[in-house]
Amino acid sequence: MKAAVWHGQKDVRVEDVANPPVPGKGEVTIKVKRCGICGSDLHEYEIGPVGIPIKEPHPMTGRMAPLIMGHEFSGDIFKLGEGVSNLKVGERVVASPLWYCGKCYWCRRGNYNLCRTAAVLGAGADGACAEYINVPAYTVFKLPPQISYDVGALVEPLSIGIRTVKQGRVSPGDTVAIWGAGPIGLFALQAARVAGATRVYVIEKALRRKECAAELGATAVLDPKDGSPVREIYRMTDGIGVDVALECVGEKETGEQTMRLSRRGGRVVYVGVFHEPAQVDFNRIGVFEREISGVFVNNGEFEPAIAYLADGRVKAEPLISQKITIDEINRGLEELSNHKEKNIKILVSFDG
Ligand SMILES: [Zn+2]
Ligand SMILES: [Zn+2]
Repeated sequence: MKAAVWHGQKDVRVEDVANPPVPGKGEVTIKVKRCGICGSDLHEYEIGPVGIPIKEPHPMTGRMAPLIMGHEFSGDIFKLGEGVSNLKVGERVVASPLWYCGKCYWCRRGNYNLCRTAAVLGAGADGACAEYINVPAYTVFKLPPQISYDVGALVEPLSIGIRTVKQGRVSPGDTVAIWGAGPIGLFALQAARVAGATRVYVIEKALRRKECAAELGATAVLDPKDGSPVREIYRMTDGIGVDVALECVGEKETGEQTMRLSRRGGRVVYVGVFHEPAQVDFNRIGVFEREISGVFVNNGEFEPAIAYLADGRVKAEPLISQKITIDEINRGLEELSNHKEKNIKILVSFDG
């Protein structure tokens, strides 16, 4: 089968790897229909390895580079492994990219995403940018008929947007600011609306992403090129700042400035992956009693993500900029890397 394999920085190859994997006990094989290219795939391509093991095999899966990329996908159940009884061959499904041990300190407390040996598809386990993938049955969710394969591939990034809003405890009446209108920022915007936020300000400089934020319900979209978004948001909130600020970029300046957007006693959530450490004035936390939290993958957000897409509370189609074939994976990565003004989500399609 064909797969997009990460060998190193700027070195992703389309290769013929072992034909459809055989599902082990408790596993299923999924025939992949769509696989999205994520910001984290882009990080692995541009500056990796970030999460891909290159020196020692992953403690849970025994896998290391070269590794198949991709973790946002939809497809059909192709084969069932021993002991799997809740799924049927041919069912349309998506799967959470997180594999956990179920036994460690964190798993026993239900913090599965913080599992000591957690493996994430495309990082610690072979990913979904391939014609077939094997995953544990406990990670699989059925897709209702009204969700297309295209939209299904965006369940995973939506789950992160929902978790971001949950970590920020966005509540009815809250004001929210989101730095970055990539897929996660745009889903956090919609999830914040669902949670009852009355005003959601979005900060972004790339044209298509700005347009999309406005289409999807942003109260105002601010471009940092037009002046300080921090000053502008304080002006629009009567000098108070927002109740919850969400950082969906991961750059030195945006990290610090997102904290400043939140009011005294406000909450700040970091989702963006930072390439380098940034300086923080801890008095902004201590003196103003701000609460800070983070997001790693998902823990219980796949079900709401599927429900919101099924009933139309959240829209995913406007985020899909292009569909490519697996042979065009390098063009897709370059396109996302160099042309954010035109692209939000690029999907690899396995059926033309
Ligand atoms: Zn992703
Ligand atoms: Zn664990």
